[in-house]
Amino acid sequence: MAPPLSPARMHLASVGVSKLCFLFSLAFCGLLLLLIPALQPPGRQAVRPQPRPPVRPTRPHRLHHAEESDAAMWLSRSPAAQGGVTLTAVAGTDGLSPVGATDFKGDTLSGGAGRDPSRSRTWESLAFTDVFIAVKSTRRFHRSRLELLIQTWVSRAREQTYIFTDGDDKELQMRTGANIVNTNCSAAHTRQALCCKMSVEYDKFIESQKKWFCHVDDDNYVILPRLLQLLSSYHHSQDVYLGRASLDHPIEAPERVKSDGSVSVKFWFATGGAGFCISRGLALKMSPWAGLGNFISTAEKIRLPDDCTVGYIIEALLEVTLTHTRLFHSHLENLHKLPADAVLEQVTLSYGGFENRQNVVSVVGGFSQTEDPTRFKTVHCLLYADTDWCPKPRSKS
Ligand code: UDP
Ligand code: MN
Repeated sequence: MAPPLSPARMHLASVGVSKLCFLFSLAFCGLLLLLIPALQPPGRQAVRPQPRPPVRPTRPHRLHHAEESDAAMWLSRSPAAQGGVTLTAVAGTDGLSPVGATDFKGDTLSGGAGRDPSRSRTWESLAFTDVFIAVKSTRRFHRSRLELLIQTWVSRAREQTYIFTDGDDKELQMRTGANIVNTNCSAAHTRQALCCKMSVEYDKFIESQKKWFCHVDDDNYVILPRLLQLLSSYHHSQDVYLGRASLDHPIEAPERVKSDGSVSVKFWFATGGAGFCISRGLALKMSPWAGLGNFISTAEKIRLPDDCTVGYIIEALLEVTLTHTRLFHSHLENLHKLPADAVLEQVTLSYGGFENRQNVVSVVGGFSQTEDPTRFKTVHCLLYADTDWCPKPRSKS
């Protein structure tokens, strides 16, 4: 019979067992750690490159230029595109090539993600139907401005373009099939009326589930392929606010913080007259200040127009930086200065100044200045030569 274990020996034995258990658990955990990557599904292992890490601005804001790298790509038709056109962004060239005649209804733009490992940008494969385009208008411009847009670029993006106006126009809607939204906002050119329209635009976009919100005025031409090309170089889930700053410095506005005083706030904003775009990710974050009518009260708080209020919410409240781009144009700039061979490479165009000297882009095409004073028809026919009303090129015989 084995001699009974003394309490001291029993203690030593139990320590030995717990040590063994401990070592065994350590070894097991180590093995598990080694196995984890191997057990993961293959799709989850690839981490998407982050093209634009969110920039937390330290005031004064640093200019963030989109076109520095946007210009370094060109578009080509891909023979692999099935039933549509695929635009392929290629890195490393100096400019943007002209885009051929293309109907972009439902076509897919695929970017160059992963094609050039030296570039860290994420290219989102973006369908044209992913973009929501809001056009701000007013009843008295339906004939003089809207008809031209509906005849030209809107006809190529009918489903995703919404016209936000202040009166019904069943006749125009029936005749053209355009999406005309009567906001029931006042037809006056006041801050309140304009902010009322922006508020409806925002809510309609959120409802639409689309990936990008782009706002333009009714004197803008949108070069759809270029818009899609620009947007597809970002990701809609990131915080992206793209547009042209109307000033060369941030705007300063008094912001009331307490009832006993006010402090001023500085921020950049994209001028509405040139158009701007906001990713869905960012738009969702704007909702406490922009959704369900809150846009109007936010604008009232800082007493600034609609486009400034958008900048205030994004830059001042959410601390997301405006990505400055010169690819958007309003008639506040001298449009003649845009080189003729660069016109089709822009994202938006505009026109103005009919009273004295016309401020329009320089393009040469099928229509004279008298036939096409805004130059929008000429631009449209250069982009989409297959349009039935475009002058047909004379055959060489
Ligand atoms: N607008 C409006 N209500 C008005 C006047 C203008 O909604 O009473 C819209 C117009 O349709 C356009 C934008 O506001 O989309 C800017 O108007 P406009 O081009 O006449 O002025 P500007 O560009 O000089 O600000
Ligand atoms: Mn205008």
